Amino acid sequence: MDFELSLEQQRIQSLARDFANDEVAPLARAADETGEFPMHLIGRMAELGFLGGPIAREYGGAAMDAVSFALVCEELGRADSSVRGLLTVHASLVSGCIEQWGTVEQKERYLPKLTSGEWIGCYCLTEPEAGSDAANIQTTATADGESYLLDGEKIWITNGNLARLAIVFATRDRAERHKGICAFLVENDNQGMRREKMPGVELGHRASDHAHITFENCRVPASAMLGEPGEGFKIAMSALDRGRLGVAAGAVGIGQACLDACVQWARERRQFGRRLGDFQMVQATIANMAADIAAARLLVYHAAWLVDAGRPATQAVSSAKLFATEAAARAASEAVLLYGNRGYSSEYPVERYYRDIKGLQIYEGASNIQRIILARELIGREQ
Ligand SMILES: Cc1cc2nc3c(=O)[nH]c(=O)nc-3n(C[C@H](O)[C@H](O)[C@H](O)COP(=O)(O)OP(=O)(O)OC[C@H]3O[C@@H](n4cnc5c(N)ncnc54)[C@H](O)[C@@H]3O)c2cc1C
Repeated sequence: MDFELSLEQQRIQSLARDFANDEVAPLARAADETGEFPMHLIGRMAELGFLGGPIAREYGGAAMDAVSFALVCEELGRADSSVRGLLTVHASLVSGCIEQWGTVEQKERYLPKLTSGEWIGCYCLTEPEAGSDAANIQTTATADGESYLLDGEKIWITNGNLARLAIVFATRDRAERHKGICAFLVENDNQGMRREKMPGVELGHRASDHAHITFENCRVPASAMLGEPGEGFKIAMSALDRGRLGVAAGAVGIGQACLDACVQWARERRQFGRRLGDFQMVQATIANMAADIAAARLLVYHAAWLVDAGRPATQAVSSAKLFATEAAARAASEAVLLYGNRGYSSEYPVERYYRDIKGLQIYEGASNIQRIILARELIGREQ
């Protein structure tokens, strides 16, 4: 068993770490408070090869293996989940789907624009009545001559207002459940698509763009279909398999950020004449957090390694997503407590980690959905 990262993986890790420390982290608090994504970071991520991380070089990508891309997500997650979130959706869900399922024409048209950051992508699956039960989507795709008409609405779409390209999942016949779902590539100049910001103030990921998108007589040519008719659900799930790994890696980053913050605070803060870190209960908290994060990291790297080896990875990815997000949520909760009143305000970043991690537990399959995937693989369905 070899736990060493390759030289190339180490290079990417240190590139991502420097970028996260020097360029992302210093902006995170202001971005969170104003709700404005630092747009220049998109260009920087393209220059560094992160935006097209896993995509083939012929389309402008960096052809990173899954371990390398997980390292990038971990480092960005440590600095700012809004930035990591944009990247996961754009690269793993959107570009990854086009690379895996697209025709040569679709790949040539879209991938270079996506890897260079000229266009941003979004992934439109969730609807008001279809979240975890994604096979129940109600957006319809009606064949009309050489085109399809899309009608319905999507909610909580990350990058939805920024994006110039949307992958939209719609059903040609709801009675067919998942077998009726098709995927379409919809460009932002389509008159039948209306986008607006999600109402309310988000708990976390406040610098992210979350959109409510309505499709009304949204006409797309038949050539805009991604994959074959009825393959949409398979495409959606393939994307989530990839994306979940990035989310799990991002959670490791949040957990590590909490651990680093707690170690520093335990050394600095004094009460009862001693450092907080000299009290055994505080030591136990920090030790448990460290063990949790180390375990989460191993699960993530192992799942990525399985992907790189071309081995079945669904179970490992779900374990990693479940454990890493739950471990980071525990870490963030403890970190706020350890910081006391200071942890309760945006003056220190642990408050942001505590809010952001809830999003990672929810999207790309909430924790219970990961448990369902794991149990199904272990127990199987009744024949
Ligand atoms: C920050 C953020 C960004 C997002 N970005 C995107 C995006 O880019 N694109 C997109 O399509 N969607 C996106 N989403 C939506 C997200 O994927 C959904 O919110 C998620 O799939 C859960 O769906 P739901 O919110 O409708 O919850 P529900 O499906 O209503 O579930 C609610 C709770 O019940 C549990 N539950 C559901 N079914 C079961 C069951 N059978 N057994 C046990 N427990 C169950 C769930 O685990 C969950 O905790 C985003 C959400 C957030 C918060």
